[in-house]
Amino acid sequence: MPEKKNIDKHYRQILDWFAENNPFAKSELHYKNAYELLVAVILSAQCTDKRVNMVTPALLARFPDPLSMSRSDQAEIYSYIKSISYPNNKAAHLLGMARMLQSDFGGQVPDTVEDLMRLPGVGRKTANVIASVIFDKPAMAVDTHVFRVSARLGLTQGAKTPLEAEKQLVAHIPEDMLGKAHHWLILHGRYVCTARKPHCGECGLSELCPYFKANPDGDASLPVDAKGTAFSRPSASPEKESARMKKPVSRKEPVSLKKSVSSRKLASAKGKQKK
Ligand code: SF4
Repeated sequence: MPEKKNIDKHYRQILDWFAENNPFAKSELHYKNAYELLVAVILSAQCTDKRVNMVTPALLARFPDPLSMSRSDQAEIYSYIKSISYPNNKAAHLLGMARMLQSDFGGQVPDTVEDLMRLPGVGRKTANVIASVIFDKPAMAVDTHVFRVSARLGLTQGAKTPLEAEKQLVAHIPEDMLGKAHHWLILHGRYVCTARKPHCGECGLSELCPYFKANPDGDASLPVDAKGTAFSRPSASPEKESARMKKPVSRKEPVSLKKSVSSRKLASAKGKQKK
């Protein structure tokens, strides 16, 4: 972690790198409106976006709005989502969410984090995603990727919960960049700075990364923030996402090569998003 007086510079260098290398970052979930994104994000807890994108077309064709879903039942919703993780819980949450949208919000997705968090199946992360992506609010959704990558890069220091990480990130990232930064950190965590074996040798941020500097040989046993902070994995309970979230690398590899490989991965991710 850089000295406190240099933290703004550290943030700026990392954000500049992302802006240059992945300027078009966005969600990999498929959706056309706030309701569809809300459904997709609820389904994505402990599940891949790719898998969610496989089930949402049929699900949303049958339930194109909160009203149609609110008139269904858990068993029918389950039948559309049974191939994803925690289908029973998620079916119950989707039904409860749709019914509350009808009863409390006139069939519309609310635009504040507080109202969103009243909905079944919606924790702080999901609420922040909707507030940021749909309503352009200055919110930072912290999932397991954002939590891990932020810690490794030294953007957060000693954060033990997603909320602590969120507060640190919001304090340093300009409001108009929060939404984009959320996607940058998720995509970097998904394709480059992976949980068990981060691809440091292919990462264009390695020279700015305190985790890499403390761990150049890729010792996966080190804590994510390289400073000994305890780290726990995400809760197995998909509905309570606000619960705690808890290889060989060569120094000789030229930065330009690291950058180019990482850029290709991010470009690949960007290509997937455009599909
Ligand atoms: S250098 Fe390694 S630990 Fe640091 S951000 Fe890149 S992949 Fe992650």
